[in-house]
Amino acid sequence: MTGKPVALITGSSSGIGAAIARRMSAEGMAVVVNSVRSVEAGEELAASLPDARFVRADVSDEAQAQQLVDDVVAQYGRLDLLVNNAGVTRPIPHADLAAATGDVWREILGVNVIGTWQTTAAAVPWLRRSPGGGHVVNISSIAGTRPAGSSIPYAVSKAAVDHMTRLLAGALGPDIRVNAVAPGLIDTPWTKGFTEIRDRVEATTPLRRVGAPEDVAEVVAGLQRAGYTTGEVVLVDGGAHLLI
Ligand code: NAD
Repeated sequence: MTGKPVALITGSSSGIGAAIARRMSAEGMAVVVNSVRSVEAGEELAASLPDARFVRADVSDEAQAQQLVDDVVAQYGRLDLLVNNAGVTRPIPHADLAAATGDVWREILGVNVIGTWQTTAAAVPWLRRSPGGGHVVNISSIAGTRPAGSSIPYAVSKAAVDHMTRLLAGALGPDIRVNAVAPGLIDTPWTKGFTEIRDRVEATTPLRRVGAPEDVAEVVAGLQRAGYTTGEVVLVDGGAHLLI
């Protein structure tokens, strides 16, 4: 068993997850980077950090979510922080009900909601043994609480993540804290083409800029230190929620 606390960040080969992996490493944690497709980028990120590994797994698959946690524990002997960051969407105008088919719903809920659940369920027995208290941070979205987001299935998936966060905080205390971070528009590969929304954010939101992945990582690091906070969903949106 390593002396360092261990963080598992799902979907961390790019964007917000990669920034969280770098930040937790800088905070002195051993880090497990995960993704399902961009394996090379995930391996490169892990190789660039002092004590990190890459593990490929699709969190929407129950056996793979379990194997992911088993691999972390086989490698390090402990798990202290789980960040459920892996997520997918499909850009669908909210009024286009026909485009949001059952398959689209199943794909998005399968990763964002069931993937979060499955990875958490696999991690809980190990998080309970964390000497400082285990912690789960779910990466939600402003779309979970405001009438916004790239599609209705995506927004609903994040609303479900918010409520799962509160319910699990009640169920898993006092050994494990469960919180969520809900970003607004963040500059990642995911949002590269969102030109119209970017312009609106830069022109109208109180902080007049699109967020950086490091802005989200900063709040995850703060929650990791905030030992009396559980069941909370923290917006990181430059004040965008004041307008929608
Ligand atoms: P991104 O595309 O850079 O990262 C998504 C990551 O999830 C990738 O590493 C991808 O490989 C991984 N992933 C997807 N499906 C997976 C699966 N089944 N199993 C394991 N990994 C999987 O995008 P991002 O913007 O960094 O998004 C990260 C999280 O932040 C998502 O949950 C997203 O909903 C949330 N978010 C992003 C924004 C934004 O503006 N970028 C805003 C709000 C919320």
